[in-house]
Amino acid sequence: MGQIRLANYRLAVMTVLAAGLMAAAAAQNKETNMDWNELTPEEERVIAHKGTERAFSGEYWNLKDDGTYVCRRCDAPLFRSDAKFDSGTGWPSFDDEIDGSVKRVTDADGRRTEIVCANCEGHLGHVFEGEGFTPKSTRHCVNSISMKFVPEKKQEAVQQTQRAIFAGGCFWGVEHFFAAETGVVSTTVGYTGGHKENPTYKEVCYTDTGHAEAIEVVFDPSKTSYERLARLFFETHDPTQMNRQGPDIGPQYRSAVFYIDDEQKAVAEKLIAELKAKGFKVATKIEKAGRFWDAEEYHQDYYAKTGHEPYCHVKVERF
Ligand SMILES: [Zn+2]
Repeated sequence: MGQIRLANYRLAVMTVLAAGLMAAAAAQNKETNMDWNELTPEEERVIAHKGTERAFSGEYWNLKDDGTYVCRRCDAPLFRSDAKFDSGTGWPSFDDEIDGSVKRVTDADGRRTEIVCANCEGHLGHVFEGEGFTPKSTRHCVNSISMKFVPEKKQEAVQQTQRAIFAGGCFWGVEHFFAAETGVVSTTVGYTGGHKENPTYKEVCYTDTGHAEAIEVVFDPSKTSYERLARLFFETHDPTQMNRQGPDIGPQYRSAVFYIDDEQKAVAEKLIAELKAKGFKVATKIEKAGRFWDAEEYHQDYYAKTGHEPYCHVKVERF
């Protein structure tokens, strides 16, 4: 009898403790994670645990485009491109921040001054003064990985646009058709659908990253529609080829629709059913869109830059 009571008592204590822990975890979760972007382990290491990326290894140390750098974790605007200068250090350097966006904290060693995002307190880097690089003599030395760059062109259009992601073999050819399509605001070629972070072209070609060569299309839904673009996609590559597109062979050349929401998924399913009804043995995969990794700059607008015509893609009426 006594033992049973003791056991019950222990059980009760454990239940109360567990409930308390769960409530505490939930509260903390709410405070820190609501609305924040999901981070990769490497981003987590730098942003949450105050790590540092290797010099000259980040995405933005040498970027000179116009736009705004926002917090990778919470999207708060941090720095404008006109405050960026070349410090030769291998990290993005800014001589000014957007007012109120950056908080200064003295490092644990008491010497350097850490900078964090004023909104989410994510680690950005350090700030140095009196070096004389620019008239402001201030250098915010920031990890590329702590930020996300929003180009000016996209920024203006970002409100009223939507995104679509397709993979249809060599991304040069796919981009060629989409860039010329009415209602398309911008196109970016890159890699998606796999597991490797920051994949390079070589890795996608020669190793098992799971990624497909893909295109991210930003479009204006008042001028075109997702369905129109999806039809263009099915008519500018051969959706019946499995894991290849003409001379390009391998799963990275698979035909796939990466849908962003259920509406896009339904459109893709409908079009594939239409094609199947017409006798096409469609190999196109429908995959949920994950993170899209931009390809190296030399792949962007390849045919426009080189003046060549695509070797791998032609427009064929299928619907
Ligand atoms: Zn933030």
